[in-house]
Amino acid sequence: MSAPLFPLFADLRDRRVLIVGGGAVAERKTDALLRAGARPRVGAPELTPRLQGWREEGRIDWIPGRFDAQWLSGAWLVVAATDDTAVNRAVAAAAEARHVLANVVDDAELSTFQVPAIVERGPLQIAISSGGGAPMLARHLRRQLETLLDDAWASLAELFTRKRQHIRQRFPQPAERRRFFERLLSGPLPRLFRQQQHTQAEQHFQAMLDGHAPSAHGSVAIVGAGPGDAGLLTLNALRAMNEADVILHDRLVSEDVLRLGRRDATYIEVGKSATGHSTRQDDIHALMLEHARAGKRVVRLKGGDPFVFGRGGEELEILRAHGISYEVVPGITAAVACAAYAGIPLTHRDHAQSVKLVTAHCKDSFDTLDWPSLAQERQTLAMYMGVAGLEGLRDRLVAHGRAPSTPFALIENGSRRDQRVVNGTLADLPETARFHQVRSPALLILGEVAALADTLHWFGAPPVGAPAHTHSRNLPAPTLQAA
Ligand code: SAH
Repeated sequence: MSAPLFPLFADLRDRRVLIVGGGAVAERKTDALLRAGARPRVGAPELTPRLQGWREEGRIDWIPGRFDAQWLSGAWLVVAATDDTAVNRAVAAAAEARHVLANVVDDAELSTFQVPAIVERGPLQIAISSGGGAPMLARHLRRQLETLLDDAWASLAELFTRKRQHIRQRFPQPAERRRFFERLLSGPLPRLFRQQQHTQAEQHFQAMLDGHAPSAHGSVAIVGAGPGDAGLLTLNALRAMNEADVILHDRLVSEDVLRLGRRDATYIEVGKSATGHSTRQDDIHALMLEHARAGKRVVRLKGGDPFVFGRGGEELEILRAHGISYEVVPGITAAVACAAYAGIPLTHRDHAQSVKLVTAHCKDSFDTLDWPSLAQERQTLAMYMGVAGLEGLRDRLVAHGRAPSTPFALIENGSRRDQRVVNGTLADLPETARFHQVRSPALLILGEVAALADTLHWFGAPPVGAPAHTHSRNLPAPTLQAA
């Protein structure tokens, strides 16, 4: 096993760097060097138009022709970026003889320095190297880090750079300084930057520097977990779940999503469960307050989007009333996810100009709905509801003028491995649902667009339709069981 590479960040401002080659790769390397303030000198018979442009702007020098060892004079570094192995070898040998570090693009053997994969957040840079042996692995890791680190890191790095002197004066001892930074980073500062509250962030920083440390306060992130497929989480949701001390999650949140949360967070299931047991909304509020007051970072993880039939608004009001800081991370709501995963466009130029998100979870809520408007044509209804009450729904819609032939699709476990789509027409809706024993969670999409599931479906099993013998609502099949 050879010795590892020595990592370093070089100050190349106004220092000459030779690039041998004038093609696309040379252009990329030159661009990176220009951004670091270097003075690139490009040696090549020809230049790409962009390199040519930089030359005309006086930002780079050009030495026309084929490589000559003399080109190296005055260079701190050299990059060989030609597609001619012999030339690259000659560059590496000449650099070695002159004690100039050389990078030969895509050739770790010939290189005496390598350019790492970089994750950049303002002045903060993370360099990743596999020692040249596995650049794909380094790139893969880079992508993962890109998703993990939000832009607050750039603001933090910028602030700390700007206030460096103040911080050193205030905390001359390194140990004190370290504690100061730790307090800052575990407090509200990163969140304030994330929320684009730059003035408050500066004020908080100043107060901490002046020794007016605000009392330890937790915060709550109300996070939408989407419909189940973990791939539908947002990056912000993932980050919040990674930072959480406590995760209060609905039962609707899938195992796949929960697995992505921080390992040593405390997970508490709240909300309705299959057995009918439920945590009252007041108890959920109390849990949020209790943990936030204890200084914890709480994630309130809700199925779909927290502001679509999710009572997220009520939870926010409570937090506001008790002076707890909060943020909201939207999620993909069931209607949007189920439509996509069933191949049903919610709007369509030929079929529907509007879409209504409606909930009808209990009989009482039926009476408060605006049926004449719900029964209008050329619109899509996305009904968030249990599978009970479909009969009443059909009867009222038909009574208010919606055609019995209007297509519907019921999507059960939308976006999940066990997704099922059941479709048919409004006339047979309750019978068809019962026949296929559709269970919660299920979303009903009603409207002309629902018929498109037959041709546009792409996820899971194709839609199943009405049983042949229930084409009339007056013919309940004797073998049906209540869902
Ligand atoms: N805030 C959630 C909705 C909560 S109401 C959201 O934005 O999606 C609960 C209802 O949402 C369920 O009764 C069901 O109608 C619907 N629902 C949620 N997840 C679903 C899924 N994966 N598949 C089908 N319907 C779903």
